[in-house]
Amino acid sequence: MAKSHSIVLAGLASFAATAVFAASPNGSTTALDKSNQALGVANVTSLQVSATGTAGSLGQSFTPTSTWPLLKITSYSRTIDYPSQSSREEVTRTHEEPPAKGGGAPFAGEQKLVNLVSGKYAWNQPGAQPQPALAAAEERQLQIGLTPHGFIKAALANAATEKKVKGGTEVSYSVNGKFKVSGVIDSQGLVVRTRTWIPNTVLGDMVIESDYSDYKDFNGVKFPSHIVQKQGGFTVLDLAVNSVRVNVANAALTAPDAVRTATAPSVRVESQKLADGVWFIGGGSHNSVLLEYKDYLAVVEAPNNEERSLAVIAEAKNLVPGKPIKYLINTHHHFDHSGGIRTYVAEGTVIVTSAGNKAYYEQAWKAPRTLAPDKLAQSPKKASFIEVKGKYVLTDGIRSLELHRNEGDTHNASILFGYLPKEKMLIEADDFTPGAPNGPALVPLALGLGNTLHGNITRLKLDVTTIAPLHGRVVPYTDFTKALEKR
Ligand SMILES: [Zn+2]
Repeated sequence: MAKSHSIVLAGLASFAATAVFAASPNGSTTALDKSNQALGVANVTSLQVSATGTAGSLGQSFTPTSTWPLLKITSYSRTIDYPSQSSREEVTRTHEEPPAKGGGAPFAGEQKLVNLVSGKYAWNQPGAQPQPALAAAEERQLQIGLTPHGFIKAALANAATEKKVKGGTEVSYSVNGKFKVSGVIDSQGLVVRTRTWIPNTVLGDMVIESDYSDYKDFNGVKFPSHIVQKQGGFTVLDLAVNSVRVNVANAALTAPDAVRTATAPSVRVESQKLADGVWFIGGGSHNSVLLEYKDYLAVVEAPNNEERSLAVIAEAKNLVPGKPIKYLINTHHHFDHSGGIRTYVAEGTVIVTSAGNKAYYEQAWKAPRTLAPDKLAQSPKKASFIEVKGKYVLTDGIRSLELHRNEGDTHNASILFGYLPKEKMLIEADDFTPGAPNGPALVPLALGLGNTLHGNITRLKLDVTTIAPLHGRVVPYTDFTKALEKR
């Protein structure tokens, strides 16, 4: 994510002054003015939209080239207050039947998300307590400007330019001199598409585009009854709108104190020696494993982002000074497990990953990275890959790490797990995350993933005594087999 968590939409508060439409120099009304009138923008202070549809999980595709896996949205509501730049989005989601293949949390039943933003403050509040979400603020603010009414208001306030394109007029402006926003207004003055770019660890400057169609009159306001938003080329939201209320009460939000005073959590690294030359590097949402070879080091997994990678690399160099990190093993391409890889490429490390991922990363990494340039963008270097097809052994004759494909995995088609034969240790991502000692039984989806992993370990006749998972804590292998039996 971007380092800066604040965003000031300069001039946005002044949109109310734009109710008087200026004519363009040749006397004709501009597309922006036409849209302003057609959508009744000046009369809309807040909107509340209800819908049902589907949601795609960004960066969690089953294969590198497949779409984001879809969840069903059983209930969707979004309230936006334009003057205060606040938005409250409530989404209730369930898995499709059968569940889509791919990543995302294997929850059971319904999952409710409540995402809020007010000016530069963002937070989540599915329960009683607000959870600060600083890193989400920029995108949530931009999303207000991607709605049809928000787009017109921001365009009027930000010196937008117009240009004829296929299907209408393209209106463009920039926010804070950083984010480019554009949209297409058709001949009737309807906003049919809006677009912007935000930084993404894997995809670089990633496009967000919303398509608006089937405009209807909802309580006197024209609003699209079909909304499709794509991020990075694939659908993240497909909504059938069933009601729109205008100028609702209490739509302006004030960020709670706990959110206003929150600071970005610092990256925490806690390492634990598991065996001679083997360290577990945790302390955050995702773990890595450090392996010491005779002349070099290898790290399993580069999760999250550059910040995390820099902290893990510093810890590796602290634990074993003087040896280069020669190999980085990447278990699968999901963005939360691959967002930190580029930092290792910048270090000159060779990336070991499943065949198929190389082409994906090479393509994805070609995208511009102007919004949040990382080290590799600042000093480009060609990445070196080792592609794993079936089994691969990373060895110097003294230490060996076996990499195996987890055949039949529904989380990721080509996910790899690691096995240290001497230490009888399994390193795996997302197929089993140890819970609390007396916690509940695994939900059906997690049980399915665990059974597949167990089947592969049995198939390969691996003798495992310890699991070093890339989420959660190190546990004896018997914790895993017990979890699979727990009902
Ligand atoms: Zn995953």
